[in-house]
Amino acid sequence: MKLLRHGPKGSEKPGVLDDEGDIRDLSGVIGDIDARFLGSEAFEEVLELDLSGLPLVGASPRLGVPVSSIGKFVCVGLNYADHAKESGMELPNEPILFMKATSAVSGPFDDVLLPKYSEKVDWEVELGVVIGREARYVSLESALDHVAGYCVVNDVSERKFQLESGGQWVKGKSCDTFGPIGPYLVTRDEVTDSSCLPLWLELNGKRVQDGNTRTMVFDVPYLVHYISHYMSLQPGDIISTGTPPGVGFAMTPPTFLKEGDIMRLGIDGLGEQQQRVVPCPAGT
Ligand code: ZN
Repeated sequence: MKLLRHGPKGSEKPGVLDDEGDIRDLSGVIGDIDARFLGSEAFEEVLELDLSGLPLVGASPRLGVPVSSIGKFVCVGLNYADHAKESGMELPNEPILFMKATSAVSGPFDDVLLPKYSEKVDWEVELGVVIGREARYVSLESALDHVAGYCVVNDVSERKFQLESGGQWVKGKSCDTFGPIGPYLVTRDEVTDSSCLPLWLELNGKRVQDGNTRTMVFDVPYLVHYISHYMSLQPGDIISTGTPPGVGFAMTPPTFLKEGDIMRLGIDGLGEQQQRVVPCPAGT
């Protein structure tokens, strides 16, 4: 099932995509797609719903982040063998973890803002994992039982803030709008194998990232198992699992986002996003 949230920013309603590709409203059935819903029996009940009985939402509404009030946004660095190589970095022995501020979360078609003083804003298409059940010290074998589903994430990054400004990567990852998520939360039953998903990103119509989750160093079950030994994962938390090759800073010459650029990105079976790059509004 493809769960989504539709409507103006800040007042999105829950919805679902039906087999014809039409959006059906879920607000008569559940309050929102959030931690409470994902961790409850209502989630299993929604999976059994007859969608034809739900009201149609017309007129192509804006789509928001498919999960409301995300608690944690945990990211994995250098998790693709071919991306680590293009970055000139050693393959990690253990997953590299960093956090992205949840205030960076943004709708899948919302504009991406160039932060003040930014020079090196870059793109990263990634497979996002949405937690559905609390995970603490989970075994590798049971790790997927804690996953509600998957989504597309653009881990937008400012490389100067990330790599040249000292300290942790968090500074280059957390600017407002640096975390487009969606358009759907695709439930786990629709993704038979998260280890062979093509994922790609186009900049102004030119394909720059063209990868496959099969070159991940650490797969989804291992990441959930591993991360749950350092922090509890809660329903509604997102894990962004790293990016394949083709990012701007590894190009010759390095290429970064500028005003007016269009990013389009997607993962087979999980849908597509598109963002326009705009300057940070004056006074903010
Ligand atoms: Zn990333």
